[in-house]
Amino acid sequence: MLADKDRIFTNLYGLHDWGLKGAMARGAWDGTKDILARGHEEVIEEVKASGLRGRGGAGFPTGLKWSFMPKESDGRPNYLVINADESEPGTCKDREIMRHDPHLLIEGAMFASFAMRAHTCYIYIRGEFIRERERLQAAIDQAYEAKLIGPGNKNGWDFDLYLHHGAGAYICGEETALLESLEGKKGMPRLKPPFPANVGLYGAPTTVNNVESIAAVPDIMRRGAAWFAGLGKPNNTGTKLFAISGHVNEPCVVEEEMGIPLRELLDKHCGGVRGGWDNLLTVIPGGSSVPCLPADQCNDLDMDFDTLKDLQTGLGTAAVIVMDKSTDIVRAIARISYFYKHESCGQCTPCREGTGWMWRVLERMAEGKAEKREIDMLFDVSKQVEGHTICALGDAAAWPVQGLIRNFRHVIEERIDQYAAKPIPASVPVAAE
Ligand code: SF4
Repeated sequence: MLADKDRIFTNLYGLHDWGLKGAMARGAWDGTKDILARGHEEVIEEVKASGLRGRGGAGFPTGLKWSFMPKESDGRPNYLVINADESEPGTCKDREIMRHDPHLLIEGAMFASFAMRAHTCYIYIRGEFIRERERLQAAIDQAYEAKLIGPGNKNGWDFDLYLHHGAGAYICGEETALLESLEGKKGMPRLKPPFPANVGLYGAPTTVNNVESIAAVPDIMRRGAAWFAGLGKPNNTGTKLFAISGHVNEPCVVEEEMGIPLRELLDKHCGGVRGGWDNLLTVIPGGSSVPCLPADQCNDLDMDFDTLKDLQTGLGTAAVIVMDKSTDIVRAIARISYFYKHESCGQCTPCREGTGWMWRVLERMAEGKAEKREIDMLFDVSKQVEGHTICALGDAAAWPVQGLIRNFRHVIEERIDQYAAKPIPASVPVAAE
């Protein structure tokens, strides 16, 4: 269990003052200037040594990502972009940071921008986050007013921070679609390479980081990499925000140590599974795009990147979606499939056609109106979508389908058998002409 002294998000539930005064009382902006005086490379090395991995879903090492940015300018500026689009179903952790601890994000943006020699940072916030946008803007205004950021600020690194809101497209959470949208264009993912660190926003070197990743940086810099690396497990260090929803007694967002066992997470913070652990059917451990795990794999499960990857799923955004035995799992995955079909930007064929095809087949399977041979066909089609698209939305659409077939094939088969066994309804007499 994470000790109170090791919490980063000490105002996660909004019990204290979110504003600058409250944030400073909790330690924000303490010694920032002195830390920056250690130099760009020192900041990057500290974040590397902490083992921080990106909290947006991919889990790529944050410090290493920063090190890809050019150290010498070729005339183009460097940019930091913070991805606050948070649209993955089940995920609502960054929202809590922006609501209740916005200064952690602003100070983290200062450290990250300094490390990457960027004087400008954009925060791209999800269009539906209206109150969060207002709160974050108010906090940014406070930071400008106190001369903590902005030209000629007290911390010694000229740095401007702009908040930009999206218009409600899930695909704009994909980093290159986000950059397109930020440039005022339609949010369509770009082909990579070139990667944003070479050609990003307005053609300039850019790093895109998740809100939680950036908001963790001030504590790492103040308390030291060794403190952060001492929490969690090797290669899966630090603390993590988990957003737990579905069939638990008390859904919540909670900060815990990376690698906490799932059962402990649910029992300690959510009052357990509705109807008891034996009533558990399945868990999606990391947002709607990762495959579900059946109950028997959830008994002794550590919630970290590597453990979940070994089980052919993922930690993703750590949005834990719990489903009990009342769930129609085929219908649930069909609904997720519809989401990806709806959100596909349509520029590559396997995703544009495949997402709709998978959804339509799953809708039939949910009714039992399918043939058993179609189960393997559906799996094969999902494999043709996976890895054959411009961005990861194709994978995100394919993986839940694969998880369903791997773990709940018997449910689909039973549904098909039940439908086949139904008596054929008497034909309706044709009205006499
Ligand atoms: Fe668009 Fe889907 Fe291709 Fe991504 S995978 S670029 S969302 S069509």
